[in-house]
Amino acid sequence: MSLSQLARSISESPTLKLNETAALLRDKGEPVIHLGGGEPKSKAPIDAIVSCASLLSTGEVKYTPADGIPALKKAIIRYTEEHYLRQPAAENVIASAGAKQSIMVLLHAIIDPKEEVIFPVPYWVSYPEMVKLAGGVPVPVMARSGGFEPTVEEIAENVGIYTKAIIINSPNNPSGAVYSNEFVAGVVELCEKKNLYLIMDDTYNRLMFDNRKPTNVYDFTHDFSIDNSKLVVINCVSKMYAMTGFRIGWTVAGKDIVRAMTNIQSQETSGPAAPSQWAAVGALNGPQSSVESLRLTLENNRNVMLKRLGGFSGVRVVKPGGTFYCFPDFSAYEKDSQKLCHLLLDKVRVVTVPGREFGMEGHLRMSFCGTIKEITEGIERIKWALDPDAPNELYLGDRKLTRDWR
Ligand code: PMP
Repeated sequence: MSLSQLARSISESPTLKLNETAALLRDKGEPVIHLGGGEPKSKAPIDAIVSCASLLSTGEVKYTPADGIPALKKAIIRYTEEHYLRQPAAENVIASAGAKQSIMVLLHAIIDPKEEVIFPVPYWVSYPEMVKLAGGVPVPVMARSGGFEPTVEEIAENVGIYTKAIIINSPNNPSGAVYSNEFVAGVVELCEKKNLYLIMDDTYNRLMFDNRKPTNVYDFTHDFSIDNSKLVVINCVSKMYAMTGFRIGWTVAGKDIVRAMTNIQSQETSGPAAPSQWAAVGALNGPQSSVESLRLTLENNRNVMLKRLGGFSGVRVVKPGGTFYCFPDFSAYEKDSQKLCHLLLDKVRVVTVPGREFGMEGHLRMSFCGTIKEITEGIERIKWALDPDAPNELYLGDRKLTRDWR
């Protein structure tokens, strides 16, 4: 079989692969606890369902404009006014099939072969592969402090003649870290000074804890017009509205960028699925109580997860300021995160995601978007698997496990 060089250079999404493995094990009746997931348990807002269903009930589900239906673009403009205090024109907005497609189409629109895209470590698993798909070169930047937020100087040291863009994602997948205002302001300034694109991935923007306000990246720009600026803001209904399966994301950017993205999207996929666009209209225009109630649930889940992880003497954990991910350092138990992840799945049927996939060895990404029971039981099982002082036996349902690996 002859596959393209590109195909051979791209690896499978490890998080989607883990979802598959967990589903297969569950189908076989295995008592799997999924702490690797990337989607809230809650239901889509009722307004999303009603709006989607009213289109379906007409039986007329047709192509839409490549950049999205006017009603969705209007809802996105209103959302931007409310949450970012900016008023984009319809030509500044394009809806896509999830934030993933938004970022991918954007990269296709701005990256020439061999141009570099910088992003901090740890990073969302897909950034390196997406940059490669667009023909570019990913440049992950690790903080010398070993923490989750490099300094602006560390980012600047990696800017060279091939640098085209910087991506930042805050609150961050996988660390849950909320970047400091100083960092975001510094990166905005760096991009303005060096004439780079800044891609602000706001997928988790409003899922913030401890009374912190969502970051509005426009607050740090000196360039007030969306059109003159190379700042691009990405959003989606996937996480904040618990609508991962609808696949709707959007981009707010300069008109030239949006026009180029629309051309690419029109040739690649056409507009996003019409029922999903109408669902997103319902979610964005309806009451916003579901976002706040999800945020509160997640904050409580985070507290439970932190407390439980506190019971491990060897685990170092930084309190996540947002999202539904925690990124503890397990290297005191096992330095190879992939090995540790497989051990936990094999032995105690708990799914986690290896830190290596996010550019940081020794860590595991653990999600707290499930139930409290899953969080407490999952961590209990992990503790049993790793803690040499734990009793030798553990019950998974009615199956008795005897620890034979420590
Ligand atoms: N950016 C980040 C940081 C994400 O975590 C995700 C989803 N895991 C996406 C983008 C893609 O979101 P969507 O499901 O809307 O494509």
